[in-house]
Amino acid sequence: MRVELLATGDEILSGAVTDTNSPYLLERLFTLGLRVQRTTLVGDVRGDIEDALVSAAARADVVVVSGGLGPTADDLTVECVARVLGVRVVEDAGVLAALQERMSKGVVRTANNLRQALVPEGAEVVKNPVGSAPMLVATRGHCTFFVLPGVPREFRQLVDGEVVPRLQARLNAEPGRLFHAARLLKTVGMPESHLDAAVAPITQRFPEVIFGFRALAPECHLKLLATAPSQVEADERLARVESECRAALGSAVFGHDGDTLASVVGGLLSARGHTVTLAESCTGGRGADLLCEVPGASRYFLGSAVSYANALKEEWVGVKADTLARVGAVSAEVAAEMAEGARARTGATWGASVTGIAGPGGGSDEKPVGTVFFGLSGPAGVRTEKRFFHGDRERIRQSSAYTLLDGVRRALLGEKS
Ligand code: ATP
Ligand code: MG
Repeated sequence: MRVELLATGDEILSGAVTDTNSPYLLERLFTLGLRVQRTTLVGDVRGDIEDALVSAAARADVVVVSGGLGPTADDLTVECVARVLGVRVVEDAGVLAALQERMSKGVVRTANNLRQALVPEGAEVVKNPVGSAPMLVATRGHCTFFVLPGVPREFRQLVDGEVVPRLQARLNAEPGRLFHAARLLKTVGMPESHLDAAVAPITQRFPEVIFGFRALAPECHLKLLATAPSQVEADERLARVESECRAALGSAVFGHDGDTLASVVGGLLSARGHTVTLAESCTGGRGADLLCEVPGASRYFLGSAVSYANALKEEWVGVKADTLARVGAVSAEVAAEMAEGARARTGATWGASVTGIAGPGGGSDEKPVGTVFFGLSGPAGVRTEKRFFHGDRERIRQSSAYTLLDGVRRALLGEKS
């Protein structure tokens, strides 16, 4: 099955909005074992949308279109699809009734919203569970168009609820169909080239498994897609490849699929009934921010002392003035005292600290920009680690926050640093 995507919108072409719909759909299609042949991006221009629809339909069996279903004058997709199909635009009674219902509740107010009841004649109209513009399904020759609203929340719900199941059903009906099993392994602190090199021998032994690498610094992800003539074989093949990859990558793998580093750290802390307090310099509290992305983080996360000034390092987490004067704030000794102070003053199981030079200024020959020290205080004592990160200020802060959390994860797994 040949699949193409078509994303529309001036705001995407002008760079004001990043196209997140296409990557979302590509990810979903990957797990169905479908490789998309082409994605096209066009502005809100009738001729361009129509050209793109006609040429995609000539090549593909399925074209998923996103955007331009709204009520405003720049929403042209419905009329373009109708023209390309050679049909009229007609009012759909069901959509109209739903819109009137929403208007009566004050969800949508203006009369031009009623434009959204217009659909290409003969198209299937699929209810949008989270918005007013429906999804439209129409065919031109051998090609099926799935036309979806551009608003990411609506797009995603319709992809998951409608597009993926329909494509899956089509794949199931194909003669000699293949079965797929997919896994996303997530690593932290491992550059893409290292990840690639570590699994290279495995890729050679499993030619029928697709390996996909994605760098999302400081994370790096490895996607595995196993294909086989039956689901049982695909699952077995995936399980073998996954366990070999996990063995090759060791504790660099922090989680899989929907896991985040913070959710994994939170899960480990919760399972043990442990708590953590942070002391952060140079990350601006990003470690705390990451932890708090997880609902219920307050069960194990006590707080973070975002302490930049030396005076606050002394006052809040008990760093000694003498240590600061002797070795400076960016040092292993201060990292250790921050971690111990954070733990001791709050009664947490773990105290974790970070202090470093995020740049662009403030570096020296001895401690260049990117030098970061970490401290971790726990039941077995305190330890420190010195790391050096490349990149700009943002990158260094991000790497530092992830490494801070990853240190807690590794300690919880009983690893020595
Ligand atoms: P609306 O009813 O809001 O007009 P629509 O179906 O007409 O919905 P668009 O007008 O194309 O969709 O886009 C609505 C908003 O959704 C855009 O302003 C943009 O913020 C977001 N959006 C559209 N397409 C994408 C995309 N491909 N990726 C991410 N965001 C998008
Ligand atoms: Mg719109």
